[in-house]
Amino acid sequence: MVKELQSTTTLHNGVKMPWVGLGVFKVQDGEEVVSSVKAALEVGYRSIDTAAIYANEEGVGKAIAESNVPREELFVTTKVWNADHGYEETLAAFDVSLKKLGLDYLDLYLIHWPLPSQGKYIETWKALEQLYKDGRVRAIGVSNFKIHHLEDIIANCEVIPLVNQVEYHPRFNQSELHAFCKKHGIQLEAWSPLMQGGLFEEPVLVEIAEKYKKSTAQIIIRWDIQNGVVTIPKSVKPHRIAENAEVFDFELSQEDMDKINNLNTNQRMFADPDDFNRV
Ligand code: NAD
Repeated sequence: MVKELQSTTTLHNGVKMPWVGLGVFKVQDGEEVVSSVKAALEVGYRSIDTAAIYANEEGVGKAIAESNVPREELFVTTKVWNADHGYEETLAAFDVSLKKLGLDYLDLYLIHWPLPSQGKYIETWKALEQLYKDGRVRAIGVSNFKIHHLEDIIANCEVIPLVNQVEYHPRFNQSELHAFCKKHGIQLEAWSPLMQGGLFEEPVLVEIAEKYKKSTAQIIIRWDIQNGVVTIPKSVKPHRIAENAEVFDFELSQEDMDKINNLNTNQRMFADPDDFNRV
């Protein structure tokens, strides 16, 4: 078991969040997600990232229930989907997610997308604040929020988001957003940290991987952590789940960090949150 895999960052309310978690986007509910989450928990992962729209919360909950890991050691994240923006809708969606997960509290609840076409993310945020005040979730945050969305939330909130989970990888390192989040104590979290597999042949990463005798996936995950970004690589293969956790026995030099930082092209792989309005 990789002990350091349980090392954490401390959110601005004191809650501790693991640097590395397992993402389960596009992992099928049932056997596939149950076996993936179990494989992760067995090698020492304690953080799992799901979402209502992934339609696999039940399987995540089953794997947790069947594992021997005490609940207080786990850090479970899910997200309110776009169709459920609005105060009452979000409270109801939270209950559904919690029930599917079979949990009586959540560690982190995120607004999945700002959904500007509906203009309801402030209302949605108020619902998250209510859930937080009621002790039903230990931390609340957002996902895919740009600086102007965050400014809007900060101007209208009681609780500053604890986390912002965004697309983040060597081709898109969001330096301005990252600086803004740091300034406000918001922990940045990387989704699609491995660019869904699109970076493994990148020559600079291959060269660095050879130098450290690590895989390119491990180099990217280590780069996230050294940049102070929480990361949630996805895999359903036990050997890769284990491999992605073995990133605590080496350190990238500043020179190599800079080389990877320089791979940034400011190119998103997925939609700009200002234009993403799917419900
Ligand atoms: P990812 O960047 O983590 O890439 C995953 C893919 O990389 C796998 O399917 C596999 O093909 C490959 N891979 C993983 N480990 C490997 C290894 N060691 N060697 C070789 N190949 C390997 O992609 P992702 O799933 O899109 O992102 C990770 C998580 O981020 C998701 O599962 C989800 O939890 C979260 N996410 C959130 C949002 C959001 O809008 N908030 C969007 C996308 C993803």
